[in-house]
Amino acid sequence: MHKEIIEFLDQLNSEYLELHQKYENFFRESYMWDHSKDEEYAQSQIELENWKSNWKNSQKVSFFIQKLQESKTDQDLLRRLQHRKYFFSLHQIPEEAKPLKEKIIKFENDLQKRQAEISTWYEDLDGNFVKASRSKMTMIMRTEKEEKIRKSCFESIQKIAKIFVKDLIQLTKRKNEFAQKLGYKNFYEYKAQTEERMSSEEIFKLFDELYDKISPKFQKIRELEKNMPWLRKPRNFGYMMSGDFTKQEDPYFLLETIIDKRWKSYTALGIDYQSAVMKLDLLERKGKYDNGFCHQPLPTSFKNGKKISWQTNFTCNAIYGQVGAGNITWVTLFHEWGHAAHFSNMEQKDVILNTEYPPQWVAWAETQSMFLDTMFSSIERKMRYATSLEGEKYPFDLYEKKVRKLHILSGLGMLSIASVVKFEEILYTTKEENLTEDFVLDLAKELSSKYFDYSEQSLRILTVPHIYSRSSSAYYHGYGMAELGLQQIRDYFYDKDGFIVDNPNVSKILTKGRNLGSSKGYNDLLQTIIWENLSPNAFIKKVLQTEEEVIQTAKKRRAKVKSVPVFKGKVNLNAKIYLVDGKKQISNNIEHSWEEMNQKRGEYIKKD
Ligand SMILES: [Zn+2]
Repeated sequence: MHKEIIEFLDQLNSEYLELHQKYENFFRESYMWDHSKDEEYAQSQIELENWKSNWKNSQKVSFFIQKLQESKTDQDLLRRLQHRKYFFSLHQIPEEAKPLKEKIIKFENDLQKRQAEISTWYEDLDGNFVKASRSKMTMIMRTEKEEKIRKSCFESIQKIAKIFVKDLIQLTKRKNEFAQKLGYKNFYEYKAQTEERMSSEEIFKLFDELYDKISPKFQKIRELEKNMPWLRKPRNFGYMMSGDFTKQEDPYFLLETIIDKRWKSYTALGIDYQSAVMKLDLLERKGKYDNGFCHQPLPTSFKNGKKISWQTNFTCNAIYGQVGAGNITWVTLFHEWGHAAHFSNMEQKDVILNTEYPPQWVAWAETQSMFLDTMFSSIERKMRYATSLEGEKYPFDLYEKKVRKLHILSGLGMLSIASVVKFEEILYTTKEENLTEDFVLDLAKELSSKYFDYSEQSLRILTVPHIYSRSSSAYYHGYGMAELGLQQIRDYFYDKDGFIVDNPNVSKILTKGRNLGSSKGYNDLLQTIIWENLSPNAFIKKVLQTEEEVIQTAKKRRAKVKSVPVFKGKVNLNAKIYLVDGKKQISNNIEHSWEEMNQKRGEYIKKD
């Protein structure tokens, strides 16, 4: 029996790996440049989903569980089977719901293709139409001094937002119908229960609490408007509050320096990618998906007890020469590298527990990535690693000025997440007959007033790409919950060691949680590394600090990091990195040294 069960689990692993890899390869082609194979992409998705919902495998698992329980032998094998049972239970779909699911997948892929094909533009000062992506126009709104250009970008984004509302409604109705066929009251409930092991109400309550605690800060921002007329116009807010800082900080985060010697801090942190193969596609291109992400075509698996090295791809939309682009690209990169660190260290015997898909928690996966992008943005790291091309270090004065002006906005990012959660809450719980275009547009506008407190309504929520895709819709709460968890983890390290940057303990402790893959729930994983349950308190405390408190804390942390010796060794992430631009190969660290790889990359972006 024992041998039979192991063979069965091995067979499930290899079947899954094959389908997963096929799907991920088509996914990458479709999202990165080529929509000619979208049919095959949809088909591979359907095959994978059908495998996950195969009831014969599920029944066999139940049979083996019963046998093992009767014989009271091998607890490890029993646990593995129980994980399988849970996995299959997440994907069981009644026969009559399958055609609907296939329809949704096809509809969604077609929508994605149409979204990638639209051309967008803004008007410059001479009245010329300039082609630009949504990401680029968002960045221009933050940094361009000419209000007329910012206004044109804002209006253009408003137009893009309206184009796919009908599709969104159609998709929402079908997704709700699908969830109801599975016995859930709506799609959000289905996602909450299957992906977070929570009820949607618990999630909504948490975000309502965050809104109540943070939104009184709007009053202070309104007061600023007395000296900054039209501050609360969406086209002005980002620019008037932070545009100047984006420019002043830009020299310290130039795109030319990305993937440079600063990666030493990664090595110093002790991150080990377990000899993974990584493809990095970092530059913006037309037709490429408008958001960074990290996927793993080959999750960790074991053959005869030996770990098979894994593969990952990640992407962001770097625009060379655009003020602020370097910083955003760096943050995205650290974020995606964080996902990669998580994925590469998942070490469960069953592949289904080593992927980013359910039973993996969205919130837990994002905790891993956001922990690293938050560390990247910390003042201690900036002061140690952010230098201009001339070698000048990031100045503390700039940080202090920034805190004095921008701390007032701290927590607004969470409200922006909460606005998407609220939008999707209402979208999926509204009666079908009331879901009209006007209703959805009004909802987006009303929520922009409530959650951003702008003096002019905006349709920004409708430009969030996640809401149009089945796998990433009803998902945004994950970013918010991750933010809460990562603040707890940060506090833990500050309390215990006094520092995070270049602290090898960080990887040691985080790896304990990463190794567990998705074999445990969020609270259990958090307990494993810091002995706490998820709570909003650490985050709220940070947001409600005074400017003076923030600056004093930063001084203390900086002093602590100064006492930590700078890492002198070579960059070693234990990863085989390929830099690509769509189908073009730029460079890699297998044929070239780390320094040569970066140099080639620098030359490539300048000539492109
Ligand atoms: Zn992420």
